Amino acid sequence: MLFEDLSLSKSIQRAVYEQGYTNPTPIQEQSIPLVLAGKDLIGCAQTGTGKTAAFAIPIIHQLHRIVGSSKKAKQIRALVVTPTRELAVQIGQSFDTYAKYTNLTQLTIFGGVSQNPQVDALKSGVDILIATPGRLLDLHKQGFIDLDHLHALVLDEADQMLDMGFVNDVKKIVKLTPKNRQTLFFSATMPIAIRELAEMFLTNPETVTV
Ligand code: AMP
Repeated sequence: MLFEDLSLSKSIQRAVYEQGYTNPTPIQEQSIPLVLAGKDLIGCAQTGTGKTAAFAIPIIHQLHRIVGSSKKAKQIRALVVTPTRELAVQIGQSFDTYAKYTNLTQLTIFGGVSQNPQVDALKSGVDILIATPGRLLDLHKQGFIDLDHLHALVLDEADQMLDMGFVNDVKKIVKLTPKNRQTLFFSATMPIAIRELAEMFLTNPETVTV
C-alpha cells in the first residue's frame, strides 16, 4: 500500500513525502483507515513500529477538515497522554512534522519545568495538546485547560503508565473529557489489567496488533 491510497489531505501527504515515507508501516496501514472512520482503537504495538504516525496522521487529517483555514477560536480538540517527558517531546515533534502544512497548532506540556511558558501557550490557543499526566491535571486544576471540546483522546504507552503508577491520574483525565470522544489506546503489551483499563475507556473498539 502507498500513503496516497489512504485518501489523506494533500497537505498531510506533502509532509509525509517530505519525510521520505512512501509506504505506511503495518500499524499505520491498519490503524489509519479505522481512525478516519471514527472507530475507537486498541493498538498493540511497540515503539519503533511507526505507531506515533498511526495516530498523529489521521488525527491531523480529521482536525484539518474540522478547523480548516477558518478563524474559529482555538480549542483543544485532540489530547495525547503519554507517560514520560521524552515520549511527549517525540510525539510533539511528530505532530509538528505531519501538521506543518496545516493551520493546526499544538503544544507539548510536562512536569519538572516552569509552567509559565506552557500557560502562555495555552492562553494563545492550541488544537492539539500532548501531555504527561501530572502536569496536565495540575494545569487543568488551575483552570488553564478546557477539555470540553475534545474529539480525540490518545492514551499512549498504557502499560508504561500503569507501571509508573499513573492509573488513577489517567482515570481522572478520561473523566474530564466528553463521552462522545474518539479514544485510541496504545500499549506494547496487553496483560489483563491493561485490557480491563481499555474496556473502561473505549466503546466497541477495533484491535490492531503488529
Ligand atoms: P514510532 O514507532 O512512532 O516511534 O516511529 C519509529 C520511527 O519510524 C520514527 O523515527 C519515524 O520517523 C519512522 N517512521 C514512521 N512512519 C514511517 C514510514 N511510514 N516509513 C518509514 N519510516 C517511518
